[in-house]
Amino acid sequence: MNIKLLCLSFFKEHKINYYFRSPVIIFNCLYCKNEIKLNVENGEWNCNNCSKKGNLFDLKDLITKGYISKMIYNPRKEKNKIKQAIKLIKNEINDPKIQAKIDEINQQVELLFIYFVEKESG
Ligand SMILES: [Zn+2]
Repeated sequence: MNIKLLCLSFFKEHKINYYFRSPVIIFNCLYCKNEIKLNVENGEWNCNNCSKKGNLFDLKDLITKGYISKMIYNPRKEKNKIKQAIKLIKNEINDPKIQAKIDEINQQVELLFIYFVEKESG
């Protein structure tokens, strides 16, 4: 198993909220909750805020000692929430003109997301 898969499965297994943007996993520092990055090529991370650093095994150690991370902003999850809300609104509207406008907004959200997120994450 390569380091990248090991890292990703670690975050999934321990239900740590993360966002993967190759080659880094973005998550909250287990000490200070600052947003930090773990490089999946070597499993190493460091925090600019509290200066703690380590590797995947140190994280495993922290988890077993009971440190728990909180939510980070996940663009993909947020986009899905927006699209759900748009869908709900569309279902409440009977005017085809407004429905068409809502479809247009939905498209714009998708394009904006692709522009900012998917292009960067490769
Ligand atoms: Zn920190």
